[in-house]
Amino acid sequence: MELSYLNSTVHNHSTLCDGKNTLEQMALAAWQQGFEVLGFTGHSHTPCDLEYCMSPSRTAKYKAEINRLKAMYKGKMNILCGLEWDQFSDDDRRGYDYWIGSVHYLCGPCTGRYYEIDFRPQDLMACMRDDFGGDGMAMAEAYFASVKEIAAQKPTILGHFDLIKKLNLVSTYFDENNPRYKQAALDALAECAKSVKVLEINTGGVARGYRSDFYPSAFLLKEWKALGGDVIITADAHSTENLRWGYEQAAEVAKAAGFDRVAVMNKDAGFDFCAI
Ligand SMILES: [Zn+2]
Ligand SMILES: [Zn+2]
Repeated sequence: MELSYLNSTVHNHSTLCDGKNTLEQMALAAWQQGFEVLGFTGHSHTPCDLEYCMSPSRTAKYKAEINRLKAMYKGKMNILCGLEWDQFSDDDRRGYDYWIGSVHYLCGPCTGRYYEIDFRPQDLMACMRDDFGGDGMAMAEAYFASVKEIAAQKPTILGHFDLIKKLNLVSTYFDENNPRYKQAALDALAECAKSVKVLEINTGGVARGYRSDFYPSAFLLKEWKALGGDVIITADAHSTENLRWGYEQAAEVAKAAGFDRVAVMNKDAGFDFCAI
């Protein structure tokens, strides 16, 4: 039977990084909700912020616990051990079933400080003020330059392409309709298409109330289609109730951008395709 995009969820966190549920709770919920493939993608260790990502000892626990769960669910549900790899990650990316390449920080060009861009408005504000002379657009351009760098490392999936908009719901930092913003994003997307096949449509920002639109924005999805790329729907779930959050709505968004199929990760961490 063809694997449906509704039965595979491969961008998920747990209490070993910044999630709310344990790996075991996430696995049980996924199985109860009828998933055939469950992939975990804990935040890899970075020196930027120890609250958000897995420490080396948590990473060891993460791998061991996923191995245990893989055995426990054998024949019932396929569990994959992935990693959400950050631009500033400093641990070993080898040995995982797949990895999502994501940017969560900016490193200030003047101060050298790391700024968390996706859940601390005070960080984003300080970054704009102290490192970009108050120019939020320049900060967005620096973000997209970082996305290009991580894409060049050929991630299995490129994560939340325009995460920099997460805290920008009322255009506090920059205007997403400004041609300069759109150009920076489109230029980065074209560059990413040279090394990445699959971009995620990530529903997590909407699920958690930060945004009313998914990552990436519609104009970027249309361009990704024109560039010949594929998309996968992910929920970036940090809790059991969000494992499939917004999947059907995301499929509609993909259709509206011109896609007639979405990529679905299979039990071998390869991609099948599902008509939408
Ligand atoms: Zn992320
Ligand atoms: Zn994530």
